Formats: sequence, C-alpha cells, structure tokens
Amino acid sequence: MPRSYLASPLARILILLGAAVIPACSGNVDTTAGREAVRRGEAPLHVLLITLDTARADRFRCYGRKDAETPNVDRLADRGVLFENAIASVPLTVPSHASILTGAFPTHHGVRTNDGKLMDDPNLTLAEILREHGYATGAFLGAAVLQRHCGLDQGFDLYWDDFSGTASAGGLAYPEKRADVVVRAASDWIGRQGGKPFFAWVHLFDPHLPYDPPPPFRNAWSASPYDGEIAYADECIGKLLESLERAGVRNDTLVAFLSDHGEGLGDHGENTHGVFVYDTTVHVPLVLCGPRLLPAGRRIANQVRVIDIVPTILDFLGVDAPEGIQGRSLLPLVDGAVDAPRDAYVESYYPNRSFGWSPLLALRTDTRKAIQAPRPELYDLERDPGEARNRFDASPDEATGLLARLEAWIPEISREGVAESASLDARTRAMLRELGYVTGSAAPAEEGRERELPDPKDKREVLARLQTASTLVYEGNTEAALRLLDGLLREEPDSPQVLTLAGEALLRVKNYAAARDVYLKLLERDPRSEDALVNLGSLYLVRNEPKLALPYFERALEVNPSSADALFSLGNLYYRTFPDPTKARHFFERFLEVAPSDPQAASVRNLLRSL
Ligand SMILES: [Zn+2]
Repeated sequence: MPRSYLASPLARILILLGAAVIPACSGNVDTTAGREAVRRGEAPLHVLLITLDTARADRFRCYGRKDAETPNVDRLADRGVLFENAIASVPLTVPSHASILTGAFPTHHGVRTNDGKLMDDPNLTLAEILREHGYATGAFLGAAVLQRHCGLDQGFDLYWDDFSGTASAGGLAYPEKRADVVVRAASDWIGRQGGKPFFAWVHLFDPHLPYDPPPPFRNAWSASPYDGEIAYADECIGKLLESLERAGVRNDTLVAFLSDHGEGLGDHGENTHGVFVYDTTVHVPLVLCGPRLLPAGRRIANQVRVIDIVPTILDFLGVDAPEGIQGRSLLPLVDGAVDAPRDAYVESYYPNRSFGWSPLLALRTDTRKAIQAPRPELYDLERDPGEARNRFDASPDEATGLLARLEAWIPEISREGVAESASLDARTRAMLRELGYVTGSAAPAEEGRERELPDPKDKREVLARLQTASTLVYEGNTEAALRLLDGLLREEPDSPQVLTLAGEALLRVKNYAAARDVYLKLLERDPRSEDALVNLGSLYLVRNEPKLALPYFERALEVNPSSADALFSLGNLYYRTFPDPTKARHFFERFLEVAPSDPQAASVRNLLRSL
C-alpha cells in the first residue's frame, strides 16, 4: 500500500488549498463557525469513540484494500478525516486502550500487558475529564479482557461489561459479545440521553481470534474469515451510526473510529498480535468525523499516534489538556498548519512477561523505525513499508542515533512509580516459602538484563508450534498437544505461555501431580497469574489439603478482585471446611455479584438461605 495517496481529485485539491488558504474550511461547510459554537458552549458536542479490536489498517477499502467490504467506515472517511499513518502504542488490547483513553504512552499510564498491572487511579481518562464537564459517560465492551478490574472504567457512569453467562468462543479466547449485541446496548443508551452531552465508548471485539463471522458473512468470506469479521463489524458500525440519526444528534457528534492494534496474519512469522512491534500490528486505522467540525474527505499522511485523540477532543471543547496527557491535538494538522513531527513510542513487554524473551521497544518516525532488541533493527518505511529488510548493519550510524534518541526519550515520557511493584511478588514468594517451596528469581526481567534474553525474532518457530499446540488443546486433541508441549517445556522451561497451556492440557487428562508442578513453576515466573493461583488452589482441594488451598485462592482474589473461581472456592471453604458464616456469606454474595448467571449460582443462592 502506498504510504500516502489521496482519495479523489477533489480531496487532492482541497488539501492543496487547505494548506495555504482558509485552514478550517472544507467544501461548503465552515468548520470555524461550528468549532466556535462548541467552544462557546452554544452547540453541544457529543463524542462517540469506536474501537474495533484487532483491525489491521490495510484491511479496509479506504486504506487501499480493493476487495474489502467496509462501506460504513469508508463513508465515515469520505465525510471526515482519515489518518493514513496512525500508530498504536502497544499491540495489546488493554495497554493500547489505556493509551487511547488517557492520551499517554504506557510508560506513563503503567499498563504494559493485558494481565499485568491495572491502570491506577492517578491516571485521568477522557471519561473522567468529560464527566467533570457535565457529560453522561457510557462504555460498551465487546470482550471480558476489558472488564472493569483492568481499571479503564474510571469516569464512566455506565460500564457495560457483564459477561456472566457469555461463553468464550470455543473456550479459546476471552468471553466476547458479538458486535450487534454491543451496538444495540450502546444505541439504546445513546437514545436515552435526551440531548444531554454524552461520551460513548463502543468496543467491538469481533476481528479478534477466533475468526468466526456470523451468516451471511461466514459463507461470503469462508476463504478469509478474518476479513469476514471486519465486514460484519463494519455493518454493525453502520447501525451504530444510524442510531445517532435516530437520536437526532448525528450533526452534533464527533465520531472517532480506530483500532487498538492490528493482526500479524502470518507476516513476520506472527499469526496474531502482541509479540512484535511491526506495522502489521501497530499501524491502525483512524478516522475522525464531525460534520460541523472537520473537513470532509481529507487524508493526512503525517504520522500520528493514538495518544493524540484525547487532546484533539479536548481542543474541540476548548478544554486545556490536563497534566499527564502526552499526545497533541490533531487539529493544526487537519487544518494544514505547520505541525512538528510526532514521534511514536511503541513497546511490547508481552514477549518478556509471557515467554521470558526480551521485550521490544521502538521509535517510529514518519520515515524510519528503530527497534531496540538483542539484535536491533532499523527500517526505511518509505522504501520498505513491509519492514522486510533490516538496515541496521547497512546504516549503523543512523540506527544507533535513533536508538540513543529512544533511550533518552523513555525517561522523559515515564511517570515516576509506574514500574511493576515488587511488593506483591515478594509476598507470593514468601507464601511459597511458607508452604515449603523454594522459589527462584522474580518474574519480570531485571532492568539492564533484558539484552541477555532471547530475541523474539529468533523464536518464530517456537511461536508457531505453541499456536499449533494451543489449537490442539482446544480442539480436544490433548494427547497430541502434550507431545508437542513436552518438547516446548524442555526448550522453553520458563515460558509462562508454555506453562499455562501445559497446565491446562494436564488438567484435562487429570494428571494432577504434573499439573501442580507446572503451575508452581508458572507462579515462580509470573506471581500474578490468576490461572496458576486458582488451579493450584483447586489441585490442593483435589488432594484434600484445604489449608494449602486457602492462600492460593486469597492471592487470586488480590490479583483479580472479581475472580469468580476464587470467590466461589473461598465461599465453599468458609462454609464447609473452616466454618465461618460471616466470611462464607461475604464471598458467596460477591460471587453472585460478579457471576449472577454462573451455573453454580443457583446452588450458592440455596446455601446463602441456609447461612
Ligand atoms: Zn485488542
């Protein structure tokens, strides 16, 4: 895909004019008057933020894919501004959304992986800022990965994240809701606001694994179900935009459409996302559309970052960006004003936390990407947009210059105290010692030691085998999976990802002794693994050692206060084994709060009546 091209001759002329003539005016719509009315509070500005999970930019027609079926996003781009080079901060759902909602890099908001540290209170979200300004705020989530315990619910009046009774598709991924269900909930809420300014965040998870679009998209895209999911989600986005019309707020609503990250789809040896920081997973679609606020049909080739969205919205409202926002308003760029380049910081700690490999950190400019890794990389994005040729050896001075810039920049964009807290980890280690298990070193790589760790790009073959094993486990072919995992456990003995899958497979074949060893190992490597904690607790219950089980469930609840498994087990332990009606009641009631539709809910309600 060309890095910069224009939609139509008209758009081309408008951009040429826009740069030199009346900046905030396009076609026959005077955006200056619209923006002034909003700033003076004479016109409302509703905000609809749509994040389509795992949607790679080059899969949309408006981003150059000829056979894409994305008419609604394309129309949004025709009526608004499309950013050709928008970059996510992390190729993972929770940290990327944290950046989108706070306007800050992960070094500042502190969320580095999906299951690591939660977003803490000092972070200010767009919802918090807008609520201060009288907005109704609602979030509508498509997958359990973004449930409120990850901390992104700050500032939302309504955080629609109840996944109780929602099956995870094929047991493979997070419980998710189809886009039409999420869109219906969001549309109803928008319709109920009655003219009050609102901020709605609608998160659609469909393009994420497993790729399983509903009919008729399932048949139409049987050869490419990932694209089928995007086509289906696009149709639902169309319905969401129609609901703005129905509520009579279409012309007063700023719509921001983007993705949190892309998808590897086999490029660079990565099928999904999270490990690498290539453009396949960090280049995201971004379209802003506001009929009275933004020109129509404009395409911007300059690099922008997802952290620029919050300050842009605040710019429309004339609200000063609070301290901590690291993005910059996109309006000067849209209006054709001279705009300083926007460097993008990109990171992935997932290869480190989940596999024990080196993390990857990158500096991306308009034309270059430098990746800090055990074997560092440099790409010329103009000549090699597919990042196929590492130019590190060919241009060592340029590469080291960019990496030095990256290294100097990281402390500047870091907030004090965001590094993973060591205290919880130490506590788990102490707990393990009390139980008679001597543990090794702490989970995350110590600073400065990262360069000794394996380079993720040398582990592509391991990634592929792990994915095969994962598919085998979830297809029920556990014996075949265990044969593959046997080799993986020998080659990657410290990989939490391998250990988690091995534990799951061993539980399925009821090899409890081996499963326990695997989960203890996992806990050494990743003391916050809810999976390991809950399964170890359960394994000790199976062995009739409730005293050993108890601390694991307690710890699981510290890691995730909404852990239904931990709440249920603690309720049972205090009901039957260590009778304490007050505690039993507390845990059972919490269990019913977080999992009212759980298959065990009815029996828990009965127990509560007898307490
Ligand atoms: Zn995601």
